[in-house]
Amino acid sequence: MPLRLEFRRYRLPFRRPVLTARGAWTEREGFVVRLEDADTGAVGWGEVAPIPHFGTETVEAAGAALARLAAEPTRESLAAVGAELPCTQFALAEARAGLCGPPPLPVRRLPVTALLPAGRAALGVVAARADEGYVNYKWKVGVEPAAAELALLDRVTDRLPAGAKLRLDANGAWDAPTAERWLAACAGRPIEFIEQPFPPGRETAMFALERRFPVRFALDESIARLADLHRWLEFGWPGFYVVKPALCGPTGALRRALADFEVEAVFSSAFETTVGLRSALHLAFGANQDERAVGFGTIGAFADDAFNPPTPGPFVSTEWVSRLDPAEVWARLGSN
Ligand code: MG
Repeated sequence: MPLRLEFRRYRLPFRRPVLTARGAWTEREGFVVRLEDADTGAVGWGEVAPIPHFGTETVEAAGAALARLAAEPTRESLAAVGAELPCTQFALAEARAGLCGPPPLPVRRLPVTALLPAGRAALGVVAARADEGYVNYKWKVGVEPAAAELALLDRVTDRLPAGAKLRLDANGAWDAPTAERWLAACAGRPIEFIEQPFPPGRETAMFALERRFPVRFALDESIARLADLHRWLEFGWPGFYVVKPALCGPTGALRRALADFEVEAVFSSAFETTVGLRSALHLAFGANQDERAVGFGTIGAFADDAFNPPTPGPFVSTEWVSRLDPAEVWARLGSN
């Protein structure tokens, strides 16, 4: 079965710069991949959306690999891409799987996490999202002095709808005394978990701290590399795992690892276009998890609305995902 592999590069500015520990991130770069079986006419889609500071390949390295593979693509050569190119592996695994048609999915819907900006700006946003019906929220902390943020905690949680849960994401910014102050303040409040309180490398300190307080932790930056995810799975990290499928290599291997270890995975965005979003949500819907909210409050982040899917609102359904059409993104990139 001869294959035809094509790819188109994208460079999409964000509507607002994404603030990270490394400063402002202003545009998303990556590739959309189209794979066609010349005999059957079947088409599969994938997206390469790297974040090099999370340990992935660069856009340039992915582009070089795609160019090499496109010269003479075979199922074997596409499956043989190495672990040093995890985002390329993800895209090609999805494209190959797509040749067999979309995966069968149960009819499901999952809550979408509403993202709250750091500091006081969170107050207005939480009230607006509560009116829209969101039941899960994530507040970026560790941005302003801890005392100022802690003084806002009650006001943020007071604005949550009844039964709603709040995730705190420290992006590794805390030291031990700061973490202890937060953990004491969070006890008895509707905090689902705290994401990455300490930076990668300090997981044992997180583990020790988590045992002393009722609030649970989630690893995010610590498990950005697939090898690190496996290391903490085997260690038996007792908290949640924030999984960004687009950064995690071949989806089949990720699906098996999560199932084998029965982890509490929190599926999350890496700021993909519709193509990668569709793959990541297929994985989230197919995973054997309860009604855990997905971290895809990033939908709508691109400045060019033509690349934003319609907002799913507070819940994303398999039906919503089935309407996402990679061919539309492909056509738009071709006409740019
Ligand atoms: Mg995080």
